[in-house]
Amino acid sequence: MSSPGDAPADHETDDALRVLGKVFGYDSFRGEQREIIDHVVGGGDALVLMPTGGGKSLCYQIPALVRPGVGVVVSPLIALMQDQVDALRALGVRAGFLNSTQGLDERRLVEAEFAAGELDLLYLAPERLRVESTLHLLRRGTISLFAIDEAHCVAQWGHDFRPDYLQLSTLHEQWPDVPRIALTATATRATHAEIAGRLNLGDARHFVASFDRPNIQYRIAPKNEPKRQLLELIRGEHPGDAGIVYCLSRASVEKTAAFLVENGIDAVPYHAGLDAGTRARNQSRFLREDGLVVVATIAFGMGIDKPDVRFVAHLDLPKSVEGYYQETGRAGRDGLPSTAWLAYGLQDVVQQRKMIDGSEGDAEHRRRLAAHLDAMLALCETVECRRVRLLAYFGQESAACGNCDTCLSPPTSWDGTIAAQKLLSTIVRLKRERNQKFGAGQIIDILLGRKTAKVIQFDHDALSVFGIGTELNESQWRGVVRQMLAQGLLAVEGDYGTLVLTDTSADVLGGRREVLLRSEPERPARTAGSGRSAKRAAVVADLPEEALPLFERLRAWRAATAKEQGVPAYVIFHDATLREIAAAPPATLAELGGVSGVGENKLAKYGEALLAALAEADA
Ligand code: ADP
Ligand code: ZN
Repeated sequence: MSSPGDAPADHETDDALRVLGKVFGYDSFRGEQREIIDHVVGGGDALVLMPTGGGKSLCYQIPALVRPGVGVVVSPLIALMQDQVDALRALGVRAGFLNSTQGLDERRLVEAEFAAGELDLLYLAPERLRVESTLHLLRRGTISLFAIDEAHCVAQWGHDFRPDYLQLSTLHEQWPDVPRIALTATATRATHAEIAGRLNLGDARHFVASFDRPNIQYRIAPKNEPKRQLLELIRGEHPGDAGIVYCLSRASVEKTAAFLVENGIDAVPYHAGLDAGTRARNQSRFLREDGLVVVATIAFGMGIDKPDVRFVAHLDLPKSVEGYYQETGRAGRDGLPSTAWLAYGLQDVVQQRKMIDGSEGDAEHRRRLAAHLDAMLALCETVECRRVRLLAYFGQESAACGNCDTCLSPPTSWDGTIAAQKLLSTIVRLKRERNQKFGAGQIIDILLGRKTAKVIQFDHDALSVFGIGTELNESQWRGVVRQMLAQGLLAVEGDYGTLVLTDTSADVLGGRREVLLRSEPERPARTAGSGRSAKRAAVVADLPEEALPLFERLRAWRAATAKEQGVPAYVIFHDATLREIAAAPPATLAELGGVSGVGENKLAKYGEALLAALAEADA
């Protein structure tokens, strides 16, 4: 057995490069792929932390093809295995899977292929490895490596797959000579350490990639009319693109999906309240078709491996930065420009604080939830680069990115001390003079001097603070309340979300603390690309105008082919490949073979048909 430190021999390195070109159709490795692959090919264990879309799969697929034997891939994403295997088979890789969705005949077939050494890669659900018959099967063949995908499952307390993952630490005892590579896109330090410990990867080499996703544009906008804002985003920047829209509740998922459909957007809902058949159908349509929008609760997305999701929109505030990063990370795995857009408002803060107060569990648990929310709020209210804040959260330093909303149009801040004092005084007076508490709506009505029915009913127009805040309008006041909540200068309480003071409020009232606030845009922020209206801004960003029609025709050809073969469109070719072809159409098979993403097998399978489609488009 070679130890992890062994340098790979030259021919191994060459083999890796040859496989990359021949099978996958790529001409160079990305980031640390080469080091990782060489290390595993040489027999070393590895722990790989790489963001979604970073290119983790090649890190075990290539060593599995280079080393003798079958690469065993452990993955909890059962629903995805069929597509993963289809995609590999389209590349000419002999792949199979064993999981609970299979019939007995199918399973027997895969087992026979494995035992006969006729597979390059075998995907397994983790629970399979607790079954003696699986272990028995594995002992009958030669294993080139164990890949443990989604390795954070072993670290996350309460994770469904955790018990099965904990068992994986014993693989090493049974197959001491087989290298193991654990991979995850979840990056906090604590998780990292726990994966290494729990999986017994003490001697593994750690590869930690930058967590930056430079092709994703991060934007966080004040929430005014969220559905309209979303529609504007889709129409203006992502017409015809695949995207995911996240909402907190099932009801808003349903309403938002219906709203999009009414407005001519191809959209479907997805949440745990739908029956299994509908859920499976909607997910499968999303994976297989071009340009479908899924409106979902966070139940959707775990292991959504679709490379060409062009936007992820959040209509409600995510509960943590980790969650936000994981969800937005589903955009742009193919490296092409994509948008992460979040609309967030006062009601989000009120609602989430309320949920935390009312949550089950001990004080420690609530404190943890509150800390997660605070970090998320700090990201929303920052006047600095969003990406810098995000990466800092994962312990990585970076410089202002130039591709987030705060970099693209730097927000101004203003001295909100006096406004904050007026707001706090109003709350104090209601309490002292009337022994009353109210939510943001009533307080703002008082500040603006509005004689609403409720103001008259409670005689609030007699308060000395009535009408002292007319220098700001309603949306600006909501911004003040929201930001003060985010900064902990104000708190919400009870079922009605009444506003109350915090320990730090007194410092503001006493003039010992300045309050710096982010300016609220006059009207709903127009999205960056909306000026260019219905242009497909993202995918075709650097595609010459005249190549656009060809790109669309190629997509149509791909859609038809995918449908005919019953595979997702991206299994045929990725957008990036079609884009390269549209920009400089190849005239011969040899030229087509030089395009990134066109390996030998795909050239043989689709080459002629694609050239024919090009010729037809030319005619
Ligand atoms: P992850 O599993 O880390 O989310 P994937 O393995 O799915 O990422 O890779 C993301 C995308 O990048 C895929 O479309 C893959 O084909 C592509 N890719 C990976 N490595 C390379 C490379 N060296 N050159 C070109 N494309 C690559
Ligand atoms: Zn930035």
